[in-house]
Amino acid sequence: MAAANAHYYATRDPLGKAGDFITAPEISQMFGELIGAWCADLWQRAGAPPIAYVELGPGRGTLAADALRVMAKAGLAPAVHFVEASPVLRAAQAERVPGAQWHDSLQSLPQDTALLIIANEFFDALPIRQLVRAGSGWRERRVACQDTLFVPIAGPDVPDSVIPPPLREAPAGSVIETSPAAVAMIGDCARRLAAQGGAMLAIDYGYEGPAIGETLQAVRAHAPANPFEAPGERDLTAHVDFATLAAAAQANGAVVTPLATQRDFLGLLGIDARAAALGPRALADRARLVGADAMGTLFKVLGLHAPGWPVPAGFA
Ligand code: SAH
Repeated sequence: MAAANAHYYATRDPLGKAGDFITAPEISQMFGELIGAWCADLWQRAGAPPIAYVELGPGRGTLAADALRVMAKAGLAPAVHFVEASPVLRAAQAERVPGAQWHDSLQSLPQDTALLIIANEFFDALPIRQLVRAGSGWRERRVACQDTLFVPIAGPDVPDSVIPPPLREAPAGSVIETSPAAVAMIGDCARRLAAQGGAMLAIDYGYEGPAIGETLQAVRAHAPANPFEAPGERDLTAHVDFATLAAAAQANGAVVTPLATQRDFLGLLGIDARAAALGPRALADRARLVGADAMGTLFKVLGLHAPGWPVPAGFA
């Protein structure tokens, strides 16, 4: 999954009508604007310290450009740091946010300033493991290549200790997913916040796990595709287990908010007023972002902040 997605993102801009999928910042400027207001509000309440804006997987840079415009109106002009693997998307980001600096990982981010870290539809692209209950134990699902076809096969036994305790006795055939890469990534973010100050938003489709069920999916041209077909040519994602990410963030020193739906989060930040001010097209976009039948409840928002920092807006 890691190798397939690295190739996928390195070789195209997948966003938008002509691409494979669309994301909230590409639906409407309101999404980035409200996140910019969230950043500016928190920064002001924290006493306006030196701070950098960090985005993980910024796509086309649209969210950052919309957010930075609103921050500037509030007197906040942070240095911008993008963690982005794809050269194609780095070029798109440079068009919208010319002053940004790019990073392959969190390691090279500045260490002498507080951080506002934003990750929208980033964690879902990180690789997962699938573990399958077979007989009396659990086995990892692996991927094999038969002729030219990739197929899932039974892999080695895994010890019960890697299975969350409430799920250990699940019925045969049950599948659970873990993402060591996502857990490591949010742990690194949490350690940065604890050491340097600041806050983070992780926004994605997901659930409060751990739970039974497989969510690995592929999309191509806005339609579901077979994840084992044409590896590296399809967008592979899995739903994000926010409870596990929150626990990892806490274990690494960050304070976490309760999980919010995208609907409630954007509602508390004032999307209704912004949509009304922008007009009819924005009202339709608003429905896509917060509608229960669209992105409103499937998408969740997890907030992290440094101990001693004010609680970020948008969480009940
Ligand atoms: N946040 C954007 C794009 C989401 S698509 C939006 O909401 O529109 C996922 C983004 O994460 C892309 O920019 C992709 O290139 C980047 N990405 C995926 N895996 C990555 C990894 N392991 N390291 C760095 N960036 C990654």
